[in-house]
Amino acid sequence: MMGGHHAASGAAAWVAVASTAPYALGWYPVSPLGIVSGALLTAGAALLPDLDHHSGTIANSLPPLTRVLARITERISGGHRRGTHSLLGLAVFVALAGALGNMTAEIRGLGTVEIGAGMLSVLLMGFALKALKIAGGAARSWLLAILLSLFIALYAPENNGWLPVAVGLGVGVHIIGDLLTHQGVMVLWPLRIKRPRKIASMPVLSKLWKASGSLSVPIIGRAGSWREWAIMVPVSVYAIYGVIEAGFAALRELLA
Ligand SMILES: [Zn+2]
Repeated sequence: MMGGHHAASGAAAWVAVASTAPYALGWYPVSPLGIVSGALLTAGAALLPDLDHHSGTIANSLPPLTRVLARITERISGGHRRGTHSLLGLAVFVALAGALGNMTAEIRGLGTVEIGAGMLSVLLMGFALKALKIAGGAARSWLLAILLSLFIALYAPENNGWLPVAVGLGVGVHIIGDLLTHQGVMVLWPLRIKRPRKIASMPVLSKLWKASGSLSVPIIGRAGSWREWAIMVPVSVYAIYGVIEAGFAALRELLA
C-alpha cells in the first residue's frame, strides 16, 4: 500500500475508535482536541513498519536520524516486510510506545513534560509529512515535524496510556493494509511456516499462502492499484471529515 494511504488509514482508525460521533465506534473516547492530535500521531504510527527499509521513503524523512534508525530496524527485523509487519513487531512497537509514554520530566515553570511522547511524535510527524509529500527538504521537514509535535504535546488526549493505543492502532492498520496486497506479510515472523506442496496447486489457497511463507488477502493486488484508490479515497474522506468535525467541536467548547 502507498505511504499516503497508510497514513490516511491510521488517522481513520483513530477517528473510528476515539470519536463518539454517530459515524464512529467510540471504543476509546477522548476529547475533541484529543481526536485531532491522536489522529495526527496515529497517521505517523501507521508508517512505522516501513522503517525496515534503509532506502525507503520513511528512511529519508528526517535525515540523518531516520537513515540510522532504518538501518538498525532493517537488521533487527530481518529485512523488509518481516519483523516490523508481524504480530511480534506490533507488540514490540506498543511496548516501546508505552515505555516512551512513561518518560516524563519535571521542568520548573512547565510542570510535567512528556519527553518520550514528544520525541516519538517528532519522528512520526516526520514520517507522515514525507508520506503525504508535504515535507520538502530536510530542514523544513524537521521544522514542520517539531511544530506538529508541539501541537500534539499541548493538546494530547488526557487518557492514560493513549500513546501505546495510538501506536498499536497505526501499526495494526499498516499490517492489514500490506496484507491486502499481492506481496502479503509474514504475520507470524520469526516463524516461517512453509507452504505445503499440496496447497501450491490449489487455486485460491495458493494465492493466500505464498511460497515465501507470507500471508496475503490480495483484495488490492498491486500497491497503488485502482482498487487501492477505490478503498482508500472513502477512508481518507472519513478521516478528514472526522478530524475537521472534532476541530469544530473543540472550537465550540472553547467559545461556549
Ligand atoms: Zn509496509
